Amino acid sequence: MSDKCEAVVIGTGFGGAINACRLARQWPGKVMVLERGKHYGMGEFPRAPADFARNFWVLPDRTPRPKHVCKAARKAGAGELHGMYDVRNYDHMDVVVCAGVGGGSLIYANVFLEPPEEVFADPRWPASCKKASLAPYYAVAKSVLGSRPIPSDVGEPRRHIHKTELFQAAAKKAHRDSRLLDINVFFGKDFNTPLPIGKQCMNRFGALQTSCTYCGECVCGCNYHAKNTVDLNYLYVAEHVHKAKVHTEHLVDEIVPVNVSGIEDRQGDGSQGYLVRYRNLKENKSGEFLTKRVVVSAGCLGSTELLLRCKRVLHTLPNISDRLGQQFSGNGDFLSFVIEGFKGEPNYGPTITQATDYNLFRDFVPGHAFVVEDASYPAFLSWFVEGARPRLMWWKPISRLVRHLLTSLTSGKSPGVLGYAFADVLSDCTSEQSAVLLCMGVDTSTGVMDLDANGHLSVNWPIQQNRSLYDAILKEGEQFKRHLGAKVFTPLPTWDWPLRNNVTVHPLGGCVLADDREHGVTNANPVKLGEVFGYSGLYVADGAIVPTATGSNPVATISALSERVAEGITGVVPDDQLR
Ligand SMILES: Cc1cc2nc3c(=O)[nH]c(=O)nc-3n(C[C@H](O)[C@H](O)[C@H](O)COP(=O)(O)OP(=O)(O)OC[C@H]3O[C@@H](n4cnc5c(N)ncnc54)[C@H](O)[C@@H]3O)c2cc1C
Ligand code: SF4
Repeated sequence: MSDKCEAVVIGTGFGGAINACRLARQWPGKVMVLERGKHYGMGEFPRAPADFARNFWVLPDRTPRPKHVCKAARKAGAGELHGMYDVRNYDHMDVVVCAGVGGGSLIYANVFLEPPEEVFADPRWPASCKKASLAPYYAVAKSVLGSRPIPSDVGEPRRHIHKTELFQAAAKKAHRDSRLLDINVFFGKDFNTPLPIGKQCMNRFGALQTSCTYCGECVCGCNYHAKNTVDLNYLYVAEHVHKAKVHTEHLVDEIVPVNVSGIEDRQGDGSQGYLVRYRNLKENKSGEFLTKRVVVSAGCLGSTELLLRCKRVLHTLPNISDRLGQQFSGNGDFLSFVIEGFKGEPNYGPTITQATDYNLFRDFVPGHAFVVEDASYPAFLSWFVEGARPRLMWWKPISRLVRHLLTSLTSGKSPGVLGYAFADVLSDCTSEQSAVLLCMGVDTSTGVMDLDANGHLSVNWPIQQNRSLYDAILKEGEQFKRHLGAKVFTPLPTWDWPLRNNVTVHPLGGCVLADDREHGVTNANPVKLGEVFGYSGLYVADGAIVPTATGSNPVATISALSERVAEGITGVVPDDQLR
């Protein structure tokens, strides 16, 4: 029998990193962290098209995935890809999550935004988890994650983000509030005096970071380590100070209680500990850890799927509440674009900088509460957009190029003609005149996650129940387009009939907190927060425990709740020092 460790943490996103750090401080060297994805050092995030094609997550598990992703997996040989982007297609809802050390923090857009109190008024939020009681945990997480608005551009033209200014002006025209958001991006250690762009220094936890270069590539992984991803703060301290052992490319596929001798006991309640079984994807072999407690932080989809399989397929955790999989939310995500006429340099600056409020923070209107955020996107994506433009649209610039060449034949060569010609072609860019509108709001949080006939996760999203929210977003988007000076407003093509598929990057729910097992899966009692009803020492700490949509970007709330789960386990009130 292997030695019993104090805790196994599954996953290294926000919930996992926070719990790895807090538990490892309590039990140095005795915490194992298992992560299915890879570790990414500075400069290691793929950029070339071929590398990007391999940067998806595909296991031969029959989960429906886009055709091009499956093709890339087949080409890769083993039919498996262990990259960052895990893209899933479900009923009326596509979901994008991330695999890698740092979880969603590797590709998120850095926003740290606390929801308004009205969100917590929903009776599905247990009395112990209302906003006031979470305030200290929000504060600690905010400090560790280094949240702050973009620095002032006064006297520093390179810090000027044109897109932010245009969104703020459009909000004003729409008589809406726009505010600069707190973002978890490194601009040096001193908030008032930013480190010059591109300069490097150690952050306060000892990890090397670069002061943001405004390259706009946040959602592809920051090659400068300017994003305050959790592998550079919580997880960094867990590993380097408190000696947690992080095992990458370890996919957990089973949790089973043990008896007093450490032998598998499927009827056990976990009071003697658990075996956590995994597949080592690098070496293609299986293994297990014996542990006193387990923190499942595999994300909304990952945690729910793992527990559903343990309950229904493997029968190792049969007594989990039947509420498992309920209250799925896409956090009201609605992705849309304004095209032609926008003049906001969309490839510059951290991905998101501001939010315009539509009845979420001021005059809360249930069913119509959302925010509109700006989004930069990587310059290299613009090249793809340009390549994808209908050929006819190239006609004008190309005919001008031919005229230039003819003129040079008849009137002799003139220096710079070729340069002018290229400038002419590229200045007609569609991508340069487009903007992304990232909308999110308070949806009904009534989706259901379940297992399909093959034993893999399925999601059913009741799109009709949420039409009033989506229709409000569509209506305001049309108006916002005009205020931004653009010609066309269009939702993501998958929204069009007959598909009517939405996409979310903010999945929540499935193992929600509640006062009892009739209403949820995990305990809302503060000293047992996150513990799975019926199982001692088995916790969930991630987006899966969030009872409803937050309306705002959810990382702040996931982090606050995860800090509180860790406090319940360790009995130690968290601070922002991590040591
Ligand atoms: C493009 C994009 C932009 C976003 N921008 C923002 C933003 O600006 N602000 C915001 O608040 N939110 C944002 N989000 C959402 C945010 O990233 C997630 O809400 C957050 O990461 C969820 O944290 P988590 O701890 O629940 O799980 P995750 O961060 O998803 O972490 C789960 C981890 O568990 C691992 N895992 C899963 N299954 C297993 C298994 N069986 N065994 C081992 N490991 C496993 C995964 O690989 C992953 O590393 C964004 C998301 C995306 C995709
Ligand atoms: S804009 Fe984003 S990706 Fe680029 S350096 Fe700043 S944080 Fe990193």
